[in-house]
Amino acid sequence: MIRDGRSGRLIVLAHCILNTNSICSGPKTPKLWPGMINPIVEKIMEYNVGVFQLPCPEFIVYGLDRPATNRHALESSGFRSKCREIAGAVSKHLREYAAKDYKILALVGLRGSPSCSPGLNGREKGIFFEELDEALKAHGLYIPKIEFERTEVESCIKSLERALNPS
Ligand code: SF4
Repeated sequence: MIRDGRSGRLIVLAHCILNTNSICSGPKTPKLWPGMINPIVEKIMEYNVGVFQLPCPEFIVYGLDRPATNRHALESSGFRSKCREIAGAVSKHLREYAAKDYKILALVGLRGSPSCSPGLNGREKGIFFEELDEALKAHGLYIPKIEFERTEVESCIKSLERALNPS
């Protein structure tokens, strides 16, 4: 790692955590947080951790004005192959950080998203996160996952804090 004062620590966030403008029409999240999901961003800012923002796969494939969707509709439209391509590119970036001894603390997704749910506690994983898991594994990377759920902000932020401050 380059020793110039940088923290050498990163967290990987689903795109819409840093840009709720990218969310499809329907969910309440943009009304609650019109720009970024503030509680996540505010917590990260306490810890001198850099942020790696994932691309929004639904935006890339379907554009901005799109309705809420589900796994079944996504699977039947060729979405997965685009996710595989994006996941491959993202994993190469992350492998470079890991190879240079940067610590990748966590990967944060959105519970219930057919694309970006981390699939914790037996819940269904999103298609993009499935492809990301495979691509990361192929590069020898394991990154612990955290999920965000807008109705459980407090417990989600506690999980985030544990990842940011593992000691
Ligand atoms: S596809 Fe992922 S990044 Fe894009 S809006 Fe949905 S959950 Fe957020």
